[in-house]
Amino acid sequence: MGKVIAIDGPAASGKSTVAKRVAAALDDALYVDSGAVYRGITWAALERGVDVHDADAVEAMLGELDVRFFSRDGAAGFSIDGIEPGTAIRTQAVNNAVSPVAVIPAVRVQVVKWLREMASLGTLVMEGRDIGTAVFPNTPHKFYLDASAEERIRRRHREMAADSAIDEDEVGTSLRRRDKIDSSRKMDPLQVAPGATRIDSTAMGIDDVVNTILSAVSEDV
Ligand code: C5P
Repeated sequence: MGKVIAIDGPAASGKSTVAKRVAAALDDALYVDSGAVYRGITWAALERGVDVHDADAVEAMLGELDVRFFSRDGAAGFSIDGIEPGTAIRTQAVNNAVSPVAVIPAVRVQVVKWLREMASLGTLVMEGRDIGTAVFPNTPHKFYLDASAEERIRRRHREMAADSAIDEDEVGTSLRRRDKIDSSRKMDPLQVAPGATRIDSTAMGIDDVVNTILSAVSEDV
């Protein structure tokens, strides 16, 4: 089993950018976006008209999906029933529906199983909400990335405004709602894992955050 670097934190805390950069800096490391898997399941439910608040219906759908994982260009990807959803998992409809889907215990059990199976592929840099607490609690390389809510809303708005005319209030409402569901759910809520290094990136540049993680990882080995 390869080394696992777990990077957890709330929405728009900079996890993806940082985790991709950390993976690129390490030899043969695979970047894994665990949120994309929850988003993929949510996308599949919306496509099929399954009510995302109906846990039994989502669980039944999940049992019928053919989900396959692969590695490409240093990152883990997946297809659902032969389709790679790509940017379709980043819409506002998916943003709003993903947290209710991610509270469903059967969904979490299945996704955690898939994520653990990836460890056989080599070194992983995995970002999410529960990587250090539930998926790989025994890894010594755990980081919790945070930033103020205002800064995270600004970042997410900037990111989304590139391809849609969405306003900042709407982004703020959706992000705060998601924070609340993610940190208050019963199963594997978002929290700082025991032993994790907490990094507040509100006033930090990406290079600083990446270097903080890389130097901590190299000290740990
Ligand atoms: O990271 P991202 O914002 O794309 O994650 C989308 C959603 O997936 C989160 O709001 C959360 O509800 C869920 N998620 C989770 N556990 C993870 C990763 C994501 O519950 N490890």
